[in-house]
Amino acid sequence: MLKEHVEFLKAELNKHNYNYYVLDNPTISDYEYDLLFAELKEIETNNPELRSPDSPTQRVGSISTGFEEYKHKYRLYSLDNSYNSEDLRKWYERAKKECGKTDLELVCELKIDGLAIALSYQNGYFTTGVTRGNGIIGENITQNLKTVKAIPLKLFEGVNIDVRGEIYMPISSFNKLNEESLKNNEKIFANPRNAAAGSLRQLDSTITAKRDLSMFTYTVILPDGNNTIKTHWDSIQYIKKLGFKTNPNIRLVKDIEGAIEFCKEWETKRFDLDYATDGVVIKINDFAAQNELGFTARAPKWATAFKFPPEEISTTLESIEIGVGKTGAVTPVANLTPVLLAGSTVSRASLHNFDEIERLDVRIGDSVFIKKAAEIIPKIVKVVDDEQHYSRPKYIPPLECPICHSPLMYREGEVVAYCSNSDCPAIAKAKLEYWVSKEAMDIDYIGPSVIEQLYDLNMVKTPADFYKLSQQDFMQLDLVKEKSAYNMYNSIQQSKTRPLSKFITALSIRHVGKETADILVNELSTLSNIKNAGIETLSNIEGIGEKIAQSIYEFFHSANGDRLLNDLAEVGVIPSEASQKQSDEFAGLTFVLTGTLQSMTRDEAGDKIKARGGKTSSSVSKKTSYVIAGENAGSKFDKATTLGVNILSEDEFLQMLAE
Ligand code: NAD
Repeated sequence: MLKEHVEFLKAELNKHNYNYYVLDNPTISDYEYDLLFAELKEIETNNPELRSPDSPTQRVGSISTGFEEYKHKYRLYSLDNSYNSEDLRKWYERAKKECGKTDLELVCELKIDGLAIALSYQNGYFTTGVTRGNGIIGENITQNLKTVKAIPLKLFEGVNIDVRGEIYMPISSFNKLNEESLKNNEKIFANPRNAAAGSLRQLDSTITAKRDLSMFTYTVILPDGNNTIKTHWDSIQYIKKLGFKTNPNIRLVKDIEGAIEFCKEWETKRFDLDYATDGVVIKINDFAAQNELGFTARAPKWATAFKFPPEEISTTLESIEIGVGKTGAVTPVANLTPVLLAGSTVSRASLHNFDEIERLDVRIGDSVFIKKAAEIIPKIVKVVDDEQHYSRPKYIPPLECPICHSPLMYREGEVVAYCSNSDCPAIAKAKLEYWVSKEAMDIDYIGPSVIEQLYDLNMVKTPADFYKLSQQDFMQLDLVKEKSAYNMYNSIQQSKTRPLSKFITALSIRHVGKETADILVNELSTLSNIKNAGIETLSNIEGIGEKIAQSIYEFFHSANGDRLLNDLAEVGVIPSEASQKQSDEFAGLTFVLTGTLQSMTRDEAGDKIKARGGKTSSSVSKKTSYVIAGENAGSKFDKATTLGVNILSEDEFLQMLAE
């Protein structure tokens, strides 16, 4: 039984190796591959009699066809990997024990998600460049590698030397390449690694030359007789001096805790880089200790890779549902077979618009790769290109709104389809849902299902209707008892005097969200000033462009807008125009909030800033006075560092408030 399972795992892994290394067309995610691999490895460790020399756990990579085979001078290994810190600690303890040391310095490097290659230099001149292949035999791709500008053709010193590094394609170049391929109806690549592999394997090196490839060098086989360099860290400084490009995000740490800290830091910071990384490589710094530890059949014992939580996983597209938003925009949403991704179960993914479905050629029943980057909602990035895909019918976009059956329409210059009926019940319900949301009027106890019932029972059709309901009215709804009816009634009544900026946000004016509403109120102070502002006045306000100004003006001068405002005033919804400002301490200062704060939400922090006369902005510029950086601050933090803007920690900000 177990033997059969081992055979099954071996066959599966071999198939995926072939798809990944030879065809550059993986059909499962790296994470799923690593799970299968770890399962086989564990069975083999507990049952050594089941381990055979042809097992994927005993071998590295695979070799492709098309180029001259080349036997490596020095073998190229893979790396053992893990997804958790506990494994890293165990690896470190074992290494210390095996080489009889109480402490061992480590070097942490980003694990670049590209292709490993080996380069040889004679008297300082580049002679041969070979893919890793199966570690023993690779392919000679010297001609193609000569087109990669980061590979020096002549070094600053005339040495005989061998180095290894990773060839990669910058993410921006990958996106550009795919955009162009799409225009020309050519194959698009699933990710930058595949694009780099496909570009390097071109038999015509003029094609490779046109692709933007680069390389980070991370290992050197020192020239014979060089006994002065005794650590990995020093060897990297040495190759830098020879003219090789090395990755700047490297750190020497004194123990495994320092390495774990580095891994945590890069788990989020990696999204700001223009190249893909899938983890951190941790290497023992001392060459003598490295020699002591040596290699397994597949990987060095003196290095290990920490892999970041997977961003991508494969699942099945079960159906496509059409949603209609408050602006009437029609968005297709994918219903997926639920899968665990980056710590949460994902069962839906955004498909953006019908053009995107066409571009992906995604069909119901397909296996798809979904991706979650940073905090963004998962999206479908690729359809698995298998035979079944072609036997499924192509997706045909609807011509009418799924709710009111009015024809769909397209606005000039936009790919999004809209429902053409401004009285569409789906739009009305979405507007009501937005009205009660935290960002808008912040009304508790009223969720989508309550709104659905209120609407279907003809009790609420527009926001003003909420305020006409009595406590008794709510008791007509499913499962609503006296206490919750009271809570609903009460929270609606309490919202009547919300600040003006929340009220403007809640109106669902096209292109006007919370930030624009804040700007309007900051500049124009009262509802009547905003209502009466001309397009020119509006578009002269910093942060409000012509398109937004036009949309605001149209809303306040339309019959629908007028009716809504009158109805709201009639039922007693009178937004508070009292300025949030209580003092001038922060007058003239602009703050940008980034990352997660511990003691308050970013919105609350923004309110405190405004109460002191300061402004908030969503982007960092030279005009920014302070960036307040919470936990996991990302690109805004880096931009502030580059521009030399003052950065405050949460504690420093709290102190500033207290003063
Ligand atoms: P690996 O990519 O996990 O690790 C070893 C490689 O890391 C080295 O060969 C080198 O290319 C690279 N690397 C990047 N930065 C480095 C640095 N700073 N220092 C040293 N090395 C660095 O191992 P692998 O053997 O190349 O590939 C195995 C992995 O490939 C699997 O764990 C899986 O994630 C993926 N894979 C996926 C599929 C699939 O179907 N999805 C199939 C086969 C392999």
